[in-house]
Amino acid sequence: MKYIPIERVETGRIGYQQQVKETNIKRIFDLVRFGRCKSRAEIVRCMNLSATSVSVLVEELMSRGLVEEVGPAQTTMPGRRPISLRLNSDARQMATFALSRDGVRYCLLDLECRVVESHTYPLSIEGLTDAEAGEAYVRLFEQVLKRRSKRFDSARALMIGICFPGVFLENRKTYSSGTELNVSIPEGIFEDFGRRMGLPLCVINSTRCKAYAEKRFLDARDPDAPETEYMLYADIHKGINCAVIAKGSIYTGPHNISGLLGHFTIDYQGRPCHCGNRGCLERYVNQDTLLEDAQKACVEAGTQPPADLKEAARRCADEPALMAALQNSARLLAFGLYNLMCSSGMNHIVLSGIEALGDAFLEEVRRALMERTLLVCRLDLSWAQAGRDSRNVGICQYFLDKVFTITG
Ligand SMILES: [Zn+2]
Repeated sequence: MKYIPIERVETGRIGYQQQVKETNIKRIFDLVRFGRCKSRAEIVRCMNLSATSVSVLVEELMSRGLVEEVGPAQTTMPGRRPISLRLNSDARQMATFALSRDGVRYCLLDLECRVVESHTYPLSIEGLTDAEAGEAYVRLFEQVLKRRSKRFDSARALMIGICFPGVFLENRKTYSSGTELNVSIPEGIFEDFGRRMGLPLCVINSTRCKAYAEKRFLDARDPDAPETEYMLYADIHKGINCAVIAKGSIYTGPHNISGLLGHFTIDYQGRPCHCGNRGCLERYVNQDTLLEDAQKACVEAGTQPPADLKEAARRCADEPALMAALQNSARLLAFGLYNLMCSSGMNHIVLSGIEALGDAFLEEVRRALMERTLLVCRLDLSWAQAGRDSRNVGICQYFLDKVFTITG
């Protein structure tokens, strides 16, 4: 996870007064953005600030174009009717690119993190060197923003987000994606691109973006319920990635590689893995092996192998061999998840990438986890629900919540 400002961050200390002001103005921006306060009076009630201070800060948000006034507010209170405030969602934009083996998913989002323009661009980097692949990506980004997009406006852009399906390796200064893209992009290529565009870059692991979008989806679904502070998000594709939400934010660990669920061993004498370990979970449970194991079971039982996971899920109720294969996969996955639950102390798990297997599979994973009754007394297990563009949406939500500052 990396935020690359246009200029290097100043090392000089920001003044205390300036810090207090930024904290307060950002808080007001968030109260308006999330619709929790619709007038200056409501903001005064929410914050420990005088009416005058709130007025000054709201004035500044308005002069920056981030917040706007909309007529008198609807209220039953006597006296002068207050003017309503709302987010000026068109005031700023965020351009995002999510990389995967299928190509690049481009989404332009407004300040409410709504997608206002999107397109998927196929891009093959096969046979290219790492540097060539990196250049091919940024060439595409630049083409999209400078020529193909109809709505991108660099004057209103806050940042460019890149959802990367891998990790940033600090010692090598590269963005490395082994399983998904098989590429290691030198950091300088992204940095130069940001400089050329005159915009800061935010590069975050794709699974972490999805996890943050899921957290925000769950929080928005029930605004009165407590915030989702702790969550494990397992993204199952050609391998298994996991993101950890802790204290309401993305937990990266000191070396930016926390939650590598795919490399939790479930058999110390098991299949060798490219990471150097043996019996890693992702060698047994991933999109390909799940289907292969189901197909193998059908071949052995003398029935037609399923073409995809959806078909396997649909047929398993009538075919015991297929059912046994899926149950076995669910149990292997539960072994890995249990390791993760024990090491993190968390019991809220969201699974993504194999939703086609349906609720019966999820129930099997739940059953297997609940057998470990000493430590698992409560379990919150569900499929991901944040939607198709959760990578692009999640990176913008995270940026606005945790990185963006109003006063610079
Ligand atoms: Zn491994």
